Amino acid sequence: MNTQRLRTGLEEMGIAADALVLERFEAFHAILDEYNARMDLTAVLDEDERVDRHDLDSAAPLRHGLFAPGAKVIDVGTGAGFPGMPLLILRPDLKMTFLDALQKRISFLEDALKRLGLSAVTLHARAEDAARMPEHREAYDAAVSRAVANAATLQELTLPFVKQGGLSVAWKGPGVQEEMTGAKRAAFVLGGTVRGILPAPVPRRDDWAHVLLVTDKTGKTPKAYPRKAGTPGKKPLGVG
Ligand code: SAM
Repeated sequence: MNTQRLRTGLEEMGIAADALVLERFEAFHAILDEYNARMDLTAVLDEDERVDRHDLDSAAPLRHGLFAPGAKVIDVGTGAGFPGMPLLILRPDLKMTFLDALQKRISFLEDALKRLGLSAVTLHARAEDAARMPEHREAYDAAVSRAVANAATLQELTLPFVKQGGLSVAWKGPGVQEEMTGAKRAAFVLGGTVRGILPAPVPRRDDWAHVLLVTDKTGKTPKAYPRKAGTPGKKPLGVG
């Protein structure tokens, strides 16, 4: 792993990283490589791109102070642990839940957490089903999600997990404006209010123009939502 690139990138973002943090990132990259050699876990990127696309990009909300100390956070559609694992490595005080519909990714994360000496909850489920479970419904201070669905669909996959006063954070690119009308309408139906778009530039990657779409949970999610598994993706609320 290019530790120097990670260190200087985090520095540029104003995010503190001590020796233990850097060691855990190195160990996580090594475990990813180990698994990637035998299963298709995540796209194999060159060392610099992996630091930028996975680690630094995932850290974006920490610049904006979006999570209070000890906040309960769920990463919806975490895949190989992004953004949840970099967030947890940088902020071990967070109470993180990793959710994904694919068992092999959850098994990988369980092994990685153990080897990194971090504790978190892992959940193998569809978001639509998990958000109906009493222990997960409106139980989180924040739901985060990257590269899982369009913004309107994401609102339905994340907001039901968030308690009133909490927020949903979606990683988006320069095309976010086209998704805003649907995202706002869907949020309204689900008890949310779009707060706006925060800049999330990745050091040395100005051309990416990454942003975070932040939605506040201002009311309760009606019992009818989320709809059954697959429907939020096929018929996004507020679109069309
Ligand atoms: N968030 C990770 C990242 O940015 O690298 C993974 C992105 S990957 C393209 C999308 C992930 O979302 C997959 O691991 C998939 O299994 C998961 N996913 C998609 N829809 C889901 C749903 N409804 N419930 C739970 N997981 C879902």
